Amino acid sequence: MKVLVVEDSQMVSRVLQRLFQTSDIPLETIFCSTLKDAQSVIDHQDDIFVALVDLNLPDAPDGEVVELMLAQSLPTIVLTSSYNDQRREALLKLGVVDYIVKESRFSYEYTIQLIQRLIKNQHIKILVTDDSSSYRQLIRKHLERHLYQVCEAEHGRNAIEMLQQEPDIRLLLTDYEMPVMDGIELIQCIRKEYETSDLKIIGLSAADNPALSSKFIKSGANDFLKKPFNYEELHCRVMHNLQEMELVEQIKEAANRDYLTGLHNRRYLFDQASGVMSSSASTCLAMMDLDLFKSINDTYGHNAGDAVLIQIADLMKRSFQRFLLARIGGEEFCILLPGLNLEQSALLMQHFCQLVHDTTFEFEQQELPVTVSIGLAQKQSDNLTKLMNCADEMLYKAKESGRNRVVYE
Ligand code: GH3
Ligand code: MG
Ligand code: MG
Ligand code: MG
Repeated sequence: MKVLVVEDSQMVSRVLQRLFQTSDIPLETIFCSTLKDAQSVIDHQDDIFVALVDLNLPDAPDGEVVELMLAQSLPTIVLTSSYNDQRREALLKLGVVDYIVKESRFSYEYTIQLIQRLIKNQHIKILVTDDSSSYRQLIRKHLERHLYQVCEAEHGRNAIEMLQQEPDIRLLLTDYEMPVMDGIELIQCIRKEYETSDLKIIGLSAADNPALSSKFIKSGANDFLKKPFNYEELHCRVMHNLQEMELVEQIKEAANRDYLTGLHNRRYLFDQASGVMSSSASTCLAMMDLDLFKSINDTYGHNAGDAVLIQIADLMKRSFQRFLLARIGGEEFCILLPGLNLEQSALLMQHFCQLVHDTTFEFEQQELPVTVSIGLAQKQSDNLTKLMNCADEMLYKAKESGRNRVVYE
């Protein structure tokens, strides 16, 4: 997929090119500077994701390029140096995604952010609940212009059914007055099941009822929008709520991961273990510890030790894909193996122990000697700490009896 930039100013093109290069946008860029060239690009390329166009071109001085792009149903972002309300109204009415006034570096950074947003939006599902079909259509049209996936419901009960059918809906926009179940009842019902970090809700409230917005928020909505609203108001609210949700997701993910290896950490293991353990009749747990790791640090340096930890973690990720893994301490790892008995788990661990022994670990052209010891235990109850203690005893025996081995009861 590609970004088509139609811009006759070399300076602006250069700034954009540099920003595209330093961003992580996974799209190729095509630059051209006239309407004629843009037409030719469109004729020959059928994988353009978004067009970024200047209103004033040598052969198209008055925004003609916008119509060309929209006629191809291409999401179109306008870059303009002259801003006025009338122009803005006219462009949004035509169907552009957004317009950006070329005034500072920030405008170009906003452009990049907007494209990143559009790429993400393709995978975000929004449910619009309103008994007025014309309002639903209007909101759908606005949201689809930003490439969101849109579902519709006519009233609260209908919305609940949709949420069950489409569990990946991330945002709900809901009207208040609706037959069967109104917006407030709907939100109260939803909040019994969905955390605000899993599903964002924006209430749509009529301008002549000032109490409604607070009623929405108190019932569990994240935000509200007064009807009638304009295109940009809707997008700002929607975008703001999704960004917040993504930020919380990133924070949660960071809190549950070990920074060095990217494996889950002790906190995540303890959070998830009881669910994993109770869902399987038989579960085993392996405690794994690198052998004589201190001497790797002492001989080759701490960076070499870190490189070994990263490489071991990668081996683990590949070998134990369907199990729960965590780095629980410096050079200690834990693997929870639901659905396996002791013999099956022992086989798997012996195989891994051998794999580590046979793998060449390298750091700055030096080969490092790496082996692991593993203690294995089978659950007697759903108590994780007890199970870890049993596996730890076995690990101790593995160390005592010579390392580079698996010991189990
Ligand atoms: P044993 O076979 O008995 O386990 O011997 P060991 O040397 O592995 O055990 P010990 O517990 O004495 O040493 C563990 C070492 O792991 C000490 C510590 O400096 C190192 N270590 C812990 N976390 C990290 C880390 O993140 N990076 C590096 N490079 N080293 C770490
Ligand atoms: Mg209504
Ligand atoms: Mg060790
Ligand atoms: Mg240790």
